[in-house]
Amino acid sequence: MTLVLEQALELEEILVPGYEKVIKVTNKEIGLKAIICIHDTTMGPALGGIRIYPYASFEIAFNDVLRLSKGMTYKSAITESGWGGGKSVIIADPQKNKTKEMLYSFGQAVDRLQGEYICAEDVGCTPEDVLEIKKATSYVVGLPHKKSSGNPSPFTAWGTYRGIQSVLKKTTGSESPENRTIAIQGLGSVGCELAKLLFWNGARLIVSDINPVKSQAIAEFTGAKIASPRDILSEKCDVFAPCAIGSVINEQMIPHLNCTAIAGCANNQLFKDSDADELMAAGILYAPDFVINAGGLINVTQELGVDGYDPIAARDKIHQLYDQLMVIYEIAEQNRFSTHRAALALANYRLKYRIGKRTAPPCFHHVITSDG
Ligand code: NAD
Repeated sequence: MTLVLEQALELEEILVPGYEKVIKVTNKEIGLKAIICIHDTTMGPALGGIRIYPYASFEIAFNDVLRLSKGMTYKSAITESGWGGGKSVIIADPQKNKTKEMLYSFGQAVDRLQGEYICAEDVGCTPEDVLEIKKATSYVVGLPHKKSSGNPSPFTAWGTYRGIQSVLKKTTGSESPENRTIAIQGLGSVGCELAKLLFWNGARLIVSDINPVKSQAIAEFTGAKIASPRDILSEKCDVFAPCAIGSVINEQMIPHLNCTAIAGCANNQLFKDSDADELMAAGILYAPDFVINAGGLINVTQELGVDGYDPIAARDKIHQLYDQLMVIYEIAEQNRFSTHRAALALANYRLKYRIGKRTAPPCFHHVITSDG
C-alpha cells in the first residue's frame, strides 16, 4: 500500500515571484490535490498549518495558500518565533472526502521536502489528522499527546483575548472587558473559547455562527444575544471580533461597521491592505490579524526547544501580545499610518535585521509513550 501511494505521488514546483517554493502535490490513485507553499525562510524553516477545504477551484486554493504563507512569515517575524512562513492546503471537503490515505500521501510529500516545511493542524485538519500525517513524516508539530503542544486553539483564544484588552485600553482607557459589548463572528475552536473568556470577565456578548447550534449553545451558556451571519458585522458594539473567515473587512462592509475597534483571530481579515487605511479614516482601531492571532504559533514553538513543550512558557509569551500590540499602535500614531502598515513595517524590520532568527535546529519530541 505504502509503495503504491509513493509511486503515484507527484510533486511539481510552480515558480511564483516573491515566494521561495510553491509545490503542487497530486496523487491520482487516491484523489489527493494539495499545494505546499514556502514563502520565506529568512528566520528559520517554514512552519504553518494544513488547511483542508473544498475550494471551488485550484486558483482559489492557490491564492489562499500564497496569502496564508506570507502571513505566517510576518507572524513569526513579529513574535520572534524563529520560523519561516509556510502553509499548505488540501483541496477536499473535510466532512466528506478526507481519508487516511490522503493524509498519509500528503505526509510523504512533506517528507520529501526534508524539513524545509513543518506542518501542523489548521481549519479542517484536526490534531488526530496530524497523527496520520506523522506516520509518513517527522516534520509535524501539534500532536495530541503529552510531549507535544496539541490543540493550539485555547492559546490562540488567550492571545485574542489579550488583543481585545489592548484595543479596549487604547479606546476607553481601561483594558477590562467588563460591561463592554463584544460581537464575535464564528464560534469554532477559537471563537467558542474566546466567548467564554470574555463572559467570565464581565463582557456582554453578541454572537453569530453559520451553524445555529453553536450560537444557541454559547447564548445559553453566556446569555449572549444571537445575531444572524449577515447582521453581525453591523451590530453596535465596542469590539467586533472576526473569528471565522478571511476578507470580512472590505470596502463594501466598512461603512456598515458599528464598532470602535476590530480584534479577532481570523486570518487575512482585510480583503486588501488599503482596507486598513479606510478603517483608520473611519476611526476604527484595528488589531492586525497576524499579531493578535499569533498565540497558536507561539504555543507550538514551545514544543520544539531542547526541553520540549512548556505550557507555562507559552502562556506567558502569549500574554505579552498585549504589549506587542501597544507598540504597534504607537508606531502607527507616530507615523500617521494604519496599524496594519505599522505591523508590516515592524515585521519587515525584524526580517531585514534577522531579529529573532532561529540559531539552533528544532528538536522534535515525537515519542509517544504508553501513558500518552
Ligand atoms: P473553526 O473551523 O473551528 O471555526 C470557524 C467557525 O466559523 C465555525 O464554527 C463556522 O461554522 C463559523 N463560520 C464560518 N463562516 C461563518 C460566517 N460567515 N459567519 C459566522 N460564522 C461562520 O476555526 P478556528 O480554528 O476557530 O479558527 C477561526 C479563524 O481563526 C480561522 O480564520 C483561522 O484561520 C484563524 N486562526 C485559528 C488559529 C487556531 O489556533 N485555531 C490560529 C490562528 C488563526
